[in-house]
Amino acid sequence: MKFATRLIHGSHAIDPATGALSIPVYQTSTFAQQSVDHFGKYDYARSGNPTREALEEAIADLEGGSRAFAFGSGMAAISSTLMLFAPGDHLVVCEDVYGGAFRVMTKLFSQWGLNVTFVDATSREAIEAAIRPETKAIYLETPSNPLLKVTNLREAVEIARNHGLLTLVDNTFMTPYLQRPLELGCDIVMHSGTKFLNGHSDVVCGFAVVKDEHLAHRLGFIQNAFGAILGPQDCWLTLRGLKTLKVRMEESQRSAVKVAEFLAGHPQVKQVYYPGLSTHPGHDVHNRQADGPGAVLSFELKSFDLTKRLLEGIELAAFAVSLGGVESILSYPARMSHAAMSPADRAERGISDTLVRLSVGLEDPDDLISDFAGIIG
Ligand SMILES: *Cc1c(COP(=O)(O)O)cnc(C)c1O
Repeated sequence: MKFATRLIHGSHAIDPATGALSIPVYQTSTFAQQSVDHFGKYDYARSGNPTREALEEAIADLEGGSRAFAFGSGMAAISSTLMLFAPGDHLVVCEDVYGGAFRVMTKLFSQWGLNVTFVDATSREAIEAAIRPETKAIYLETPSNPLLKVTNLREAVEIARNHGLLTLVDNTFMTPYLQRPLELGCDIVMHSGTKFLNGHSDVVCGFAVVKDEHLAHRLGFIQNAFGAILGPQDCWLTLRGLKTLKVRMEESQRSAVKVAEFLAGHPQVKQVYYPGLSTHPGHDVHNRQADGPGAVLSFELKSFDLTKRLLEGIELAAFAVSLGGVESILSYPARMSHAAMSPADRAERGISDTLVRLSVGLEDPDDLISDFAGIIG
């Protein structure tokens, strides 16, 4: 079955107990057992809950994995995944990684002895040069946040395999509708499901997805032991949001292309970062590993004054943290997603004070463009 059909008719579609077309919210913390010798499939809801299981099976199927694990946030998914590593281990991480991932690596996991080196992951040589004897994994986002830099995933997998490393990919911007890293040989896919997967700006959730049985076993152990699980109500909302993933992504992406072209031709715009533009340095690599450019783009305006006027004056896009909702969201990386980085770290990564990130929602793109034009001219 094709992707759109699987979104609607996957294993998560019908409640096996009742035939309900919507998996019920199993709002329970525990499950009564019949026998002292043999417990049923569910015993305690941290270890397993039917609503969460339906969502996890849906995500695993869409990513081409064997198991998915749902967590209370994207950061909980990322942090739980990082628990696969041990003190003394080292990771090679793409330099413009999500600010929260940067923070947890440099402020928390560093205290436990996990070391990271940030590299420009668009360069094969830079990735290879950062590998040490104690390196255990390459951690990537492609397209990255907020500069939409593209890493060649097939090449990264080749490097990783040559050195016996795992390849981890945060696939939040693309979703499995547009990019499936496990099919390209990557080992672990992570998501902030808060964004496009749920898509309605009403749930915070996260996922880790794997194909390999041994990794699935280890992540399942961490999910239960560390316990940063997603509650059943949020699982249900995410299951509902997920059903429209294809139509939302298609529509938002089509509008994003229009908005990107408008901005790219605008005299007050210094630069547009969007893999859908043929001028983007990662355009070709992206097209070889993904099925579309997605609905997030960043751009730099010519002055800080104009940047401020746009952020405060825009009407049809919320000026907010986050992305991937039905409503367009304009955000300001320097003070939002990447506020956890020092000004020096931001400058080094090209995250300037005139950089704006736009997540295109489901409004009519002509209205969005008029709104922009009303402010930037
Ligand atoms: C939002 C985001 C995260 C963090 O997810 P939360 O659900 O906010 O914890 C991680 N990675 C990327 C790329 C994100 O956009």
